[in-house]
Amino acid sequence: MAEKVIIFSAPSGAGKSTIVNHILKLYPELEFSISATSRAPRGSEKDGVEYYFFSADQFRKMISEDKFVEYEEVYSGSFYGTLKSEVERIWAKGHTIVFDIDVKGGVNVKRIFGDKALSVLIKAPSTEVLRQRLIGRGTDSMEAIGKRLAKAESEMEFANGKFDYVLVNDSLEDALAEAGKIVGEFLAK
Ligand code: 5GP
Repeated sequence: MAEKVIIFSAPSGAGKSTIVNHILKLYPELEFSISATSRAPRGSEKDGVEYYFFSADQFRKMISEDKFVEYEEVYSGSFYGTLKSEVERIWAKGHTIVFDIDVKGGVNVKRIFGDKALSVLIKAPSTEVLRQRLIGRGTDSMEAIGKRLAKAESEMEFANGKFDYVLVNDSLEDALAEAGKIVGEFLAK
């Protein structure tokens, strides 16, 4: 089976996790790429499930040992990256890799894998809708929401023209159906 990867990137609040989880359930040949991170586990997160958790020092050591396909300091002091061993682990099973990574990481991974990769940018229909979703989620202060919105806008500007597909998450039902279709077409190629 051909080695393939599917990349989903989005600003927070665009509905990325819902779409990624839907796609993973729909196609059993897909497998989620577990990233390494230096941020602390949140809530019920477990090492080796949502992320591989490391200290910032351990993470830096792995960078110097060239262990990563790509990595980013997504938030100041918090590193996130894809280990080469993770890509090998999933491909060895004959599975297609699904990445949930930030916009910059998504562009980098697409550049690395080229035609083996389908890159999908998920967008909220407007900044106002994004603002309402972040407020509705109730997990961030107004100041944090302001920062996330500013980050989302600069990410969208940076992403312009750099993804294979732009999915606007207006109605969730439509977005799930569209995501299912484009992934299905890519897997059949
Ligand atoms: P969170 O801390 O909320 O789990 O993730 C924060 C951000 O880091 C999200 O946008 C997520 O997509 C991104 N992220 C997760 N893993 C990676 C990775 O391996 N590389 C990059 N560049 N970003 C990642």
